[in-house]
Amino acid sequence: ARVTRLGPSPTGFMHIGQVYVGLIDSDISRRSGGVYIVRVEDTDQSREVEGAVEQFARAFAYAGIVPDETLGTGDYGPYAQSQRVAIYQTYVRELLREGKAYLCFATKDELANLTERQRNADVPTGYYGRWALWRDASDDDVRAKLASGAPYVVRFRSPAAPGERVSFTDAIRGELSHEANRNDAVILKSSDSPLRLPTYHFAHAVDDHLMRVDLVIRGDEWISSVPLHLQLFSALGFEPPEYAHIAPLMKQEGKSKRKLSKRKDPEASLDSYIQAGFSSEALRYYLRGLANARLAELPLREALDEPIRLAELGVAGPMADLVKLEDISADYVASLSGAEIVAALSEWASTYDPELVKVLETERDLALRALAVEREGVDNPRKDLRKWSDFRPAYGFFFSSLFPLVSDPADERFGGLSPELVRAVLTDFASTYAWTDDSQAWFEQIRALVGRHGFAPSPKEYKKNPDAYPGSLREVAQTIRVALTGSTRSPDLWAVTGALGDDEVKRRLQAVSP
Ligand code: GLU
Repeated sequence: ARVTRLGPSPTGFMHIGQVYVGLIDSDISRRSGGVYIVRVEDTDQSREVEGAVEQFARAFAYAGIVPDETLGTGDYGPYAQSQRVAIYQTYVRELLREGKAYLCFATKDELANLTERQRNADVPTGYYGRWALWRDASDDDVRAKLASGAPYVVRFRSPAAPGERVSFTDAIRGELSHEANRNDAVILKSSDSPLRLPTYHFAHAVDDHLMRVDLVIRGDEWISSVPLHLQLFSALGFEPPEYAHIAPLMKQEGKSKRKLSKRKDPEASLDSYIQAGFSSEALRYYLRGLANARLAELPLREALDEPIRLAELGVAGPMADLVKLEDISADYVASLSGAEIVAALSEWASTYDPELVKVLETERDLALRALAVEREGVDNPRKDLRKWSDFRPAYGFFFSSLFPLVSDPADERFGGLSPELVRAVLTDFASTYAWTDDSQAWFEQIRALVGRHGFAPSPKEYKKNPDAYPGSLREVAQTIRVALTGSTRSPDLWAVTGALGDDEVKRRLQAVSP
């Protein structure tokens, strides 16, 4: 059984990359009969955002990665780092007592100077030589400084010798060998901050030990910190966890690739997917396919059931691809029944489109008929319903309360036919039209308009002699399409009129002003 965890920071922004990692975490722990923990990493209080914790709950529910232990549930808490200050202090004191950590009073200016001196003296910066002033200070000097009230941080005393190397195994990258850490990292932040919070490094070691996490899956930006982390685990007398460092989701930009960026890419935010109305199933299938290409080859329901395997994750980050997600999602929506679509759509709309909720309630039968229009034969061939926010633009015209009647015969959507002709065609069709379930017979009614209003019998004939006709069958059908749907592009007109019903069809045809 594996114990995994995700450590999001409550900054009001859930990165899709965190959901990606969370999905892997929860999949691995669940399948091994283990535990998946979500720990709120709120040690940077300046970036904290109101309501962020509620946002996590919503995000995890949507992404199907509901934690076994988190704020409010679980025996190894508290699960927010800001509530664990006393725990960190205890371990810091222990390290201080053992001489494995020390107080460092160096000010910013002193550090800048030190660095300058070291540069001159040819001492490599970033190595503990840099902190020598306090690392090797006498107890008396430290006590005097403390008594003066000067602020300090606590630094870890790196035990590594020059040239030392460290080897470890990463579950994705295999055997790795790095230079040992020789930087005396800060473990407890400045004593003049209101909460004596630990740094990420120290909190990682303490929390993952005490929460008995045995598999740390995290972004590969942390791989260079592993040598420090292993020293910390050893100094604390803890067994280190197994590590798996995940390559980040990438974005294609022209010919080059870069990390999906919180600042530049709207699709980096989980909220953008929820708002757009992607179903949870489609998003999970998409992310699982990015993790293990094998899963992208399986049908959705099977892929959701298949385990994610760490060994199949690439060392290079997978390419985020919204077009691929839209395709996946369109296929998923196509596999649902009309009633399932209406249910999921209403659920989404209750947050993002309250007007639509009412329409779906009062016009449920029409909604089911409208959805059926696209669902004959091949699954949703036009793929116009990929996510719930597509419903209004693609299907809104079916509902009279969402459809602005087209009443101006000079409207440019009629494609330049004279207003007189537009009016004549529509009025004629309104008075002669009747629905029939024989689509050929239905179509003959439009064909009849062609002759009666002087259009060419075929597009070919019209092309041969464009000055002799105002257009052909194509223009007649287009005129009717615009009056009925408000658009020059629509699903099959015969099916549309069937869903609308004769009364509504006639109302729309007659809307054009006399
Ligand atoms: N709070 C850290 C981050 O957001 C978590 C890293 C980890 O999983 O250890 O990057």
